Amino acid sequence: MWNLRRWVQGVATLVSNAYLLFPFTRNIYQGRLKSMCVPGLNCYSCPAASGACPLGSIQSILATVRPSFSSGHYHISFYVLGMLGLIGSLVGRMPCAWVCPFGLIQELIHKIPSRKYEIPQALIYVKYVILVFFVFLLPVLVVDQFGYGMTWFCKYICPAGTLEAGIPMIFLQPSLQELIGILYYNKVIILLVFLILMVFIRRPFCRIACPLGAIYSLFNKVSIFRMVHDPDACVLCKQCYQDCPMGVRFYEGANQVDCIRCLKCYQESCQYGAISIEMAGILLRPVPKKGEKKEEIQA
Ligand code: SF4
Ligand code: SF4
Repeated sequence: MWNLRRWVQGVATLVSNAYLLFPFTRNIYQGRLKSMCVPGLNCYSCPAASGACPLGSIQSILATVRPSFSSGHYHISFYVLGMLGLIGSLVGRMPCAWVCPFGLIQELIHKIPSRKYEIPQALIYVKYVILVFFVFLLPVLVVDQFGYGMTWFCKYICPAGTLEAGIPMIFLQPSLQELIGILYYNKVIILLVFLILMVFIRRPFCRIACPLGAIYSLFNKVSIFRMVHDPDACVLCKQCYQDCPMGVRFYEGANQVDCIRCLKCYQESCQYGAISIEMAGILLRPVPKKGEKKEEIQA
């Protein structure tokens, strides 16, 4: 299962970045597919990107709401939120584990040998503050003289955008170097901080700062696909926590906001049959383990 997930992550990253002509065109792909969103965090302005980033799309829509309303058109698109709501209702935060290119980057960097650290639990709520202010409120509330807002999260925070678009585009279009200023350096510093954190901490951007993960996480408790914890079978060995790419303490409860449904705990970690998965109310039993029983361990 673990290898399968790596393959799916790799294929999803390639599909999300399928415009391999960019070294010749030296520009981003702007064809029809760009009007569709990919399910993971993948910058629209990445030269290889074949689709749009849902977070950028939400901000772009909100940034034009006021001119649309003041002109009497009252046009607002719910396509992106509808897509995220549909995916979230089906599988919760699963796209973070299986199809998000920036999630894959974080997991690969975390493999660099080093001492590993845990983050304070309170930090996992920062991403909801970023979601509310930088993705929803600021693009609508802070506008120019014509009523247009900005994509605040993309412009001031997103390290994926800096890594996938900001830096590569400087090399592809050297004339852009004239535009480099404090804003650019600020974003490079944010990227560097997260790249360093990735070595020492499991998926730091997903857990602390990702607004897309924050949106998907709202569906974890109610999605059709769910994880199930059996406290009677659980011996609190904490192997699920040790192996979890998000540092989730599964033994404290299933479907926590940071569970990305990678299924590693279900498939590999829990040797006591305490973890199951449920689809539309149908329980799929735990994966058979080594034959150990809870009573034998407790004895
Ligand atoms: S709790 Fe289990 S399924 Fe959820 S992210 Fe951690 S290892 Fe993956
Ligand atoms: S690995 Fe299984 S038995 Fe161990 S703490 Fe996690 S859920 Fe409980």
